[in-house]
Formats: sequence, structure tokens, C-alpha cells
Amino acid sequence: MSLRRIGILGGTFDPIHQGHLDAGHAAEVSLRLTEMFVVTASVPPHRTPVASIYHRFAMVALAVAGREGWRASDLELGLGTPSFTTDTLQRFHQRGYAASELFFVIGADAFAEIESWKDYPAILDRAHFAVVSRARLGVGVLADRLPRLARRMVRPEHAAAVSVPGGPLIFLIDAPTADVSSTAIRQRRASGEPVTGLVPPIVEQHIERHGLYSLTEAGRRPEDRGPAAAAGRLHGKA
Ligand code: ATP
Ligand code: MG
Repeated sequence: MSLRRIGILGGTFDPIHQGHLDAGHAAEVSLRLTEMFVVTASVPPHRTPVASIYHRFAMVALAVAGREGWRASDLELGLGTPSFTTDTLQRFHQRGYAASELFFVIGADAFAEIESWKDYPAILDRAHFAVVSRARLGVGVLADRLPRLARRMVRPEHAAAVSVPGGPLIFLIDAPTADVSSTAIRQRRASGEPVTGLVPPIVEQHIERHGLYSLTEAGRRPEDRGPAAAAGRLHGKA
């Protein structure tokens, strides 16, 4: 059987942007990943997304369309309950993927908080973690921030030489990633500024066409706010 090296890029993607794509690409190249599943959290545990899961998933699908080996995963879509990464990784195991084949791609800012995640530290045995630097947070600081995990941390270029008994590794990937966040994009939209260059052009088009993240409701139809609002309109309530 050929070796599978599966990337999993999880997020709220409210909206997906160039930084997410850069992080996935950096992991793909430095770890020679063969596939990349981009998993949109329908109900993220600690926040309420602004755009509906339908729009967030649609934007992810548009963003990955031209990328070979990448796909928009609907794994968490039907859950209706908070989606925790540990559960998602277990779902991959149920589908026949071994922990050693999975690489969970995560930004350095998110990984710095890993001790607060559900099922920590067991979650680190469910997949390799591919930690990618973010504009103001390089991966170099993580060993000091998370001393208990330092012995599992390895640079991709040294991976062949490292064998840590007891499970998957934490890969530290230093790569240029766009200095952008979904929050900044939503703020720009709210103040009427363009988001050109921060998201792929096709995603920008989707955001504009559907009036996403703009403060005014102008141009925003009930359909864009999800089925409940649309149903309300059909019944004359919206
Ligand atoms: P928000 O501002 O709403 O928190 P975000 O831009 O941080 O959004 P998330 O959906 O929170 O995006 O992040 C999903 C994953 O992508 C996380 O692991 C995060 O660290 C990573 N990530 C997000 N933006 C970048 C970026 N610019 N560079 C590298 N990694 C990023
Ligand atoms: Mg974030």
C-alpha cells in the first residue's frame, strides 16, 4: 500500500483567507503530504461565527477548488453540537486512517493554547501536529511556552533522524504566512474597506455577492442568514 500522508486543516473559516492557505501549503510542502482535508467547524466550541455554516463551507470549497489533492471536508457539518478536534481525529480513525498517517495543521497561536483543548494530552496521540508560524508568532517560542511537549517537537528537515517512543510528533514549520486574520477581514468589510488580496478572488466575489460581513443589511437576503431566516420570510415574518 502506498504511503498516505493526510493533512487536516481545521478552522472556523469565517472566512477562509490567504493565511489559512499559506499554512496548509507550508505543511503540504515540508511534510510531503499527499492530500489535504479542509474541515470547517459548524459549531466551534468557543465562539459564535458570523456567517452561516453554509457560506463558510461554500467559501472553503471555492478556495480549494484549484488545488490538487485538497478538498472541503463536510465531516463536521451535520453535527449540530460543538466540534472538537479530538472527535474529528477519531472520526478519521474510524474511517481507516492511522494516527501516523494524519497531520493536523495548526497555526502557532492556536497551538500555544493546546493545553486547554479537549482530551489534552491524549489528543497529541491521535495525529501528528504540523504547527506553522503566524505573522507575529514564530514556532521558535513554542518549546519554552510548552516545556512538557518540547521533546516531541521536531523540525521537518530533521524528522528522519528523530524517533520518539510513544507516538506522533509535533512538527514545527517556519514559513512565511500572510499576516491576516478572519477578524481583520470582517472588520474591513464592516468599515467598507476592500479585502482584495487577503482572500482568493473567488472568495472575495462570494463575500461581495452575498453581502457577507457588511454592517448594513443592504443586499443581504434572508437566504444568506440561513434557513430559519428564509423560512421566516416565506411566512411573512422577515
Ligand atoms: P479569527 O480571527 O476569527 O480567530 P483566524 O484568522 O485566526 O480567525 P481561525 O479559523 O481561527 O482563523 O484559524 C484556523 C487555523 O488557521 C488555526 O490553527 C490558526 O492558527 C490558523 N491560522 C489562521 N490564520 C493564520 C495565518 N495568517 N497564518 C498562519 N496560520 C493561520
Ligand atoms: Mg483565530
